[in-house]
Amino acid sequence: METTNIAIIGGGVAGLTAAIALQKAGLSATVYEQAAALRGIGAGFGLAANAMHALDILGLRQGVEKIGHFLPSYNILDANGKILISPKTEQIGTYYKQKNFALHRGELHSFLLAQLPEGHVRLGKQAISFTQNQGRVTINFSDGSSVHAHGLIVADGIRSTLRQQLLPKAKPRYAGYMCWRAVIDNQHIDLTSSYETWGSNGRFGMTPLVDQKIYWYACINGKVNDPILRKFTIDDLRKRFANYHQPIGSVLSSTSNEQLICSEIMDIKPLKSLAYGKILLIGDAGHATTPNMGQGACQAVEDVAVLYDELQESSDISEVFRNVSERRLERTSYIINTSRRIGWIAQWENKASIQLRNSLMRIMPERMKQQQLQRLLTENFLSKK
Ligand SMILES: Cc1cc2nc3c(=O)[nH]c(=O)nc-3n(C[C@H](O)[C@H](O)[C@H](O)COP(=O)(O)OP(=O)(O)OC[C@H]3O[C@@H](n4cnc5c(N)ncnc54)[C@H](O)[C@@H]3O)c2cc1C
Repeated sequence: METTNIAIIGGGVAGLTAAIALQKAGLSATVYEQAAALRGIGAGFGLAANAMHALDILGLRQGVEKIGHFLPSYNILDANGKILISPKTEQIGTYYKQKNFALHRGELHSFLLAQLPEGHVRLGKQAISFTQNQGRVTINFSDGSSVHAHGLIVADGIRSTLRQQLLPKAKPRYAGYMCWRAVIDNQHIDLTSSYETWGSNGRFGMTPLVDQKIYWYACINGKVNDPILRKFTIDDLRKRFANYHQPIGSVLSSTSNEQLICSEIMDIKPLKSLAYGKILLIGDAGHATTPNMGQGACQAVEDVAVLYDELQESSDISEVFRNVSERRLERTSYIINTSRRIGWIAQWENKASIQLRNSLMRIMPERMKQQQLQRLLTENFLSKK
């Protein structure tokens, strides 16, 4: 049977970054990924200053900046395109002395993968169960093979099979809305800034990416697995957002049905622990959040920076995992809960409530407008409490 020092299940942002960090800390680690190829889906995401700080600790910041589009601002607009909130992202980012970026997921995956020596990512390996005894963990795969490890990092995402075995009650919860995403060409639209629009027909966000691309997303309320929404095409989305400001219509008209990615928005209720002996849950497997604060992947890289920090102090894997869990729970729980609340308010459909919400947002004192971002981007996630 194969033996590895640390087995990492899942080759997403969390798993790949963890493998790089372990290697940097002098430990050997192998990533086991169920997919036959690591591509990263055709969508983008934002990496805020806190994530860039975490990547800096891991020696990855400069490389990521090269594939990222610098985001000086990210305004929230109403359906007519008028500003509701203008978060001072750049100013708050100065706490970490970092900037905010938007990236194509596929490019981030390729970049992370390129940092690992060959043979450290095993593809087509779907973990189905584990056992933990005599100071080691055994992981079993769907192809009938198994691997022994001195530690197991579970990074297999929100629907984590291994978390299900460990904590059967921790199931993904539907947030009440679906999301469509795509990356398209920017040549004819010439989008230069990033924003998110809140209106009674749903939310629409967009940001430029490098290489003349645009990443956009749309969130619409609906029942879980709604058969009508599941079949939504670009034409349906165009009709839905027809009375919203430009360039939303142009962005949708420049997207093909083949480019659309549709997901139900889910999170998991904050867990009581991320560490279970020689097993650690990181990224979405441990603390999946709704995307309303743009923090899911950011929190995954923060997990890894804290893991790396702990590895400088101790070589006892159970102790390291326990300390990582203690240092991560409060912050990730805050983000899960706050992000869910923001999503609830942002997805209102009742016109009178929206009018009231928008008026309040406009007159709210500046300090209150910046509050959520302040806490997120001015809290030292590396500090030990
Ligand atoms: C609409 C939307 C917008 C978002 N926007 C942002 C944003 O702007 N900023 C941000 O920071 N975050 C954002 N997020 C969140 C972000 O996408 C996730 O937090 C992040 O991708 C989690 O990374 P992960 O590696 O933990 O999990 P995943 O990316 O889900 O990776 C898990 C990996 O594990 C593999 N796997 C699964 N099961 C097994 C198994 N049994 N055995 C082996 N391998 C397995 C999968 O194939 C996958 O490769 C957004 C999410 C959504 C849905």
